[in-house]
Amino acid sequence: MARFDWLIRNGRVIDPQYSIDRVTQIAISGSKIAAIDDALSPGDAAQVYDATGQLITPGLVDLHIHGYHHVTPLGIDVDHFCLGRGVTTAVDAGSAGCDTFSGFRHFAADTCKTRLLAFLHISRAGLAFSSRTGGDDPGELETLKLVNARDCIECIETNRDLIVGVKIRLSSSIADDGRNEAQSFERAQEAARSVKLPLMTHHNFSSVSLNDCPGKMDAGDIYTHCFHAYPNTILEAESHKIHDSVLGARSQGILFDIGHGMGSFSWTVAEACAQQNFWPDTISTDIHSLNMDGPVYDMPTVMTRMLQVGMPLPDVIRASTLTPAKTIGWDDRIGTLEVGREADITALRLEDSALELEDCHAQLRQLSHRFVPKAVWRAGEQGAITQAQRLPNPESYEAAIAWRSKLIVQDSEAS
Ligand SMILES: [Zn+2]
Repeated sequence: MARFDWLIRNGRVIDPQYSIDRVTQIAISGSKIAAIDDALSPGDAAQVYDATGQLITPGLVDLHIHGYHHVTPLGIDVDHFCLGRGVTTAVDAGSAGCDTFSGFRHFAADTCKTRLLAFLHISRAGLAFSSRTGGDDPGELETLKLVNARDCIECIETNRDLIVGVKIRLSSSIADDGRNEAQSFERAQEAARSVKLPLMTHHNFSSVSLNDCPGKMDAGDIYTHCFHAYPNTILEAESHKIHDSVLGARSQGILFDIGHGMGSFSWTVAEACAQQNFWPDTISTDIHSLNMDGPVYDMPTVMTRMLQVGMPLPDVIRASTLTPAKTIGWDDRIGTLEVGREADITALRLEDSALELEDCHAQLRQLSHRFVPKAVWRAGEQGAITQAQRLPNPESYEAAIAWRSKLIVQDSEAS
């Protein structure tokens, strides 16, 4: 009888928690990591995965996805787009509110292999009937009757095994032309503070200023979509310098998250931030039904974008594993490779690539490398890898051009 169920062999193991970056061997027994040891050999395990030339990382943690499949317009097949691309833990960002959370548990979290956690929306409806912001869709903050901190708190208290924070979207178009934004923001802060969990804010086309959001958020709160180029971008429109209120927020401990999404990643903004040494704390996709086939594609593609703008490889891995785990208070369980923990492990290959990759506004950059998912284990069980069918996808590229008119920061040649 072999000592172990799996041996992951000869991969370049990168684990930010322990500053590990070297070729070694990892063994899995049952659902747990059993050993990390250079001396392990293929005869020790029933099954061997040869990771020569690949990166082996803690299972990726995507802090912002939409996984309430078949119930909300934005919901996706989580195992296909998350686990299949190397994400072992995905955090749904507000698809459910207190009135719809029980369905989220039973029909989404309990049915997928990906570990699916959630930020609870401050609106009791979550994203049951709304999808995009900045358009004509009805929104979850159209009436303050939908925004009840007490009921949100009660739902969190009874579902702390899955709920890791509170979510709000601050956009005028979904909040009675902005009339309900400030009050809803206050109620969301009240709820998050009461349960001592982070608040994640989406903030664009909003009547709430940068001075208030992220300026008046709390340490540990998460400002997602941090590289969007719309009104309320973190850059000053002319100089492309980062707003003082944003730098102040970072120094106070507010966290900045990519939340790429359909409209929230601009090469121009990401590059300007890189030049000012302003890197995201966490890399996340905001993957949903309208962007899963471009421009988001998946977590490895969003990680590729950060590598492309100059974020060092170990920092890209840290922002996709350990830091999101810490952000939700789960770093005692996920985000690192440690003997005795659940075996959530991802194999990626960093391939040479000359692909021209679009941002959310059909602005292109020629890559030098890209991450490609190769294998994944969730609690010791190997998951099925899926690949994006069309990358890049010309249809999503064409659709993105229409949004350029709304930008206040963009490439000079595109204006
Ligand atoms: Zn989202």
